[in-house]
Amino acid sequence: MENEKKTEAELLAEKLLLNRKNMGLTVDDATEQAAQDFCGPYKAFLDACKTEREAVAHIVEMVQKQGYQPFEPGKAYQPGEKIYYNNRGKALILCTMGKKPLSEGVRIMASHVDSPRLDLKPVPLYEEAQLAMFKTHYYGGIKKYQWTAIPLALHGVIIKKNGETLNVALGEDPEDPAFTITDLLPHLAKEQMKRTLQEGVKGEELNVLVGCRPFKDDKQSERVKLNIMRLLNEKYGIIESDFLSAELTMVPAFQARDIGLDRSMIGAYGHDDRVCAYTSLMAALECDAPEQTILTVFADKEETGSDGNTGLHSRFMAYFIEDLARPFGLSAGQVLSHSNCLSADVNAAFDPTYPDTLEKRNCAYLNYGVVITQYTGSGGKSSTSQASAEFMAQVRNILDEANVSWQTGELGKVDAGGGGTVAKFVAAFNVDVVDVGVPVLSMHAPFEIVSKLDVYSTYQAFRAYVNA
Ligand code: MN
Ligand code: MN
Repeated sequence: MENEKKTEAELLAEKLLLNRKNMGLTVDDATEQAAQDFCGPYKAFLDACKTEREAVAHIVEMVQKQGYQPFEPGKAYQPGEKIYYNNRGKALILCTMGKKPLSEGVRIMASHVDSPRLDLKPVPLYEEAQLAMFKTHYYGGIKKYQWTAIPLALHGVIIKKNGETLNVALGEDPEDPAFTITDLLPHLAKEQMKRTLQEGVKGEELNVLVGCRPFKDDKQSERVKLNIMRLLNEKYGIIESDFLSAELTMVPAFQARDIGLDRSMIGAYGHDDRVCAYTSLMAALECDAPEQTILTVFADKEETGSDGNTGLHSRFMAYFIEDLARPFGLSAGQVLSHSNCLSADVNAAFDPTYPDTLEKRNCAYLNYGVVITQYTGSGGKSSTSQASAEFMAQVRNILDEANVSWQTGELGKVDAGGGGTVAKFVAAFNVDVVDVGVPVLSMHAPFEIVSKLDVYSTYQAFRAYVNA
């Protein structure tokens, strides 16, 4: 009946042309509700996991409850067995053994659980003009001016000289004190306002205010600093040199919130890339008997280029596969060369306030569903891994068969800038890789925005991938 109303051109267009359908327009009430329901626990996950260490600890606790066992190298794992490998508390691999032999490869979902932030320097605490401050060194790509005049929380670990580990998370509870970076009042910012945005707030100006009350004894200088050290000693039992064996960082003290009168979005710190960590985790936890072995990787150090032993430029994932494969008489190379991977990471969503940075026909939009990004990089596709037509065809079919709303994306207009993900580091092991994730507004800002429908369709995409 409906076909009779369509013109010949409409029918032909339907048959021949790519339809970038807005998931927000086409979604049914049940899916909309499912997306809302899915995002409640996601917000709690964001609030509980503001650093890679917190994310790894949280996920380990979750998977232990689901029966995952610590990985034992050399054991011949059987189909359906679930294991995890915790790399230094900062990166994690989950594995569910598939029915097919490892010689047919594994399926990998690789996200990262680090986010841009302000790390404390090794000697952070100082006093100037009776104010106590922390020196910071920013981590990842940030617009520095965005990090001033907002509430910050102190997170991280301190390893004391006696080996004791202290976990710090101060500034999240409304009863906790918080911290902040001061900025100039506009009245006196005449010179500062002449600076470029890049220089508007300089790296060495990202100093965190931590106190102003002096220790009441006038025979010692720097009494505000001394008083802060006294308080830290009372609370954590640390002395100033303990900062040397610590990883402490300042992150936004915001909680995840619904955004918009329609509650269609979530604003939070660290969607990049905990949104892909969470959605891939949920897909992995629900997959009990996959055909191929499933690896869910939560990497560290992506925001600084994946270097270091917990980043995916390290060989830890290949070593894991080597240890997993050896009891079956296989090398890591034999497994990896037959494997494929969804590099689970966010992409930029079109922002109508800044329409000139993205190319409208190829960029991702909020509410259009999960984004498939064939390549990232910069300039002439430099420093990227481009997914092959063959693997794109495979992924496209998996998503279409599971009726997942998806769209294609690009990281900006040609020559507008660029960036990368873990894709090229996984591809370096001779694995087929494509970037798949959630479109984000205000990416890398202290408060990033995603659409709940996109979060949900990304979860559906990962679910389709592990079950295909
Ligand atoms: Mn990312
Ligand atoms: Mn990022």
